[in-house]
Amino acid sequence: MNFYNAHTHRIPDNHIGIYQSDAEYTASWFSVGVHPWQAAVKPLSEIIPAMYHQNCRALGEVGLDRLKGPSIEIQHAMLIAQLSLANELQKPVIFHLVRAWDEFYSLLKSQQHTPWIIHGFNSPKQVTRLIQTKVFFSLGPASLQNPHMQSILSKIPLNRILFETDDTAVDINEVYQDYSLATSTPLAEVHAQIEQNFLAIFGA
Ligand SMILES: [Zn+2]
Repeated sequence: MNFYNAHTHRIPDNHIGIYQSDAEYTASWFSVGVHPWQAAVKPLSEIIPAMYHQNCRALGEVGLDRLKGPSIEIQHAMLIAQLSLANELQKPVIFHLVRAWDEFYSLLKSQQHTPWIIHGFNSPKQVTRLIQTKVFFSLGPASLQNPHMQSILSKIPLNRILFETDDTAVDINEVYQDYSLATSTPLAEVHAQIEQNFLAIFGA
């Protein structure tokens, strides 16, 4: 039985994962992108060669962050440039979003042509609106520890969910178990659907 990790900053060893690369190529599948915090200092040209590598499975993490990084205008311009590249190369997009939901919903309408994943999803108030879109929710250790998330988890259809460990040392198998416990979903059912979701998005 394989475990699938949609976003990790450590090279996956005992499972299949999307390693967050700075711009290097790895033997495992990876994502590469200009993080919103780096939008003023890292040029788009730095990630372009890696975007064309066969192991590059997604653009990411990219997005908007109102609490950290350069102005939202600078972040937005960098994001738009990257989204057009992702659309051209048909790559899924892994998003880092902090307090930028209005901008995100308007981008969804105009820019989404590949699967979009919200990484480290931890915004329970957005669930009702987001499930009406086509985005995927990537849940990590922090998402599953948030009591406000736990009460709303069962509202998110399992076919819209991915798991991740992000920059933590948590074993991905704990994320599977925590989700299964929190939603009373049999572990076998969780495994089967997460595998299907992951491979449909990143395996294509
Ligand atoms: Zn991350």
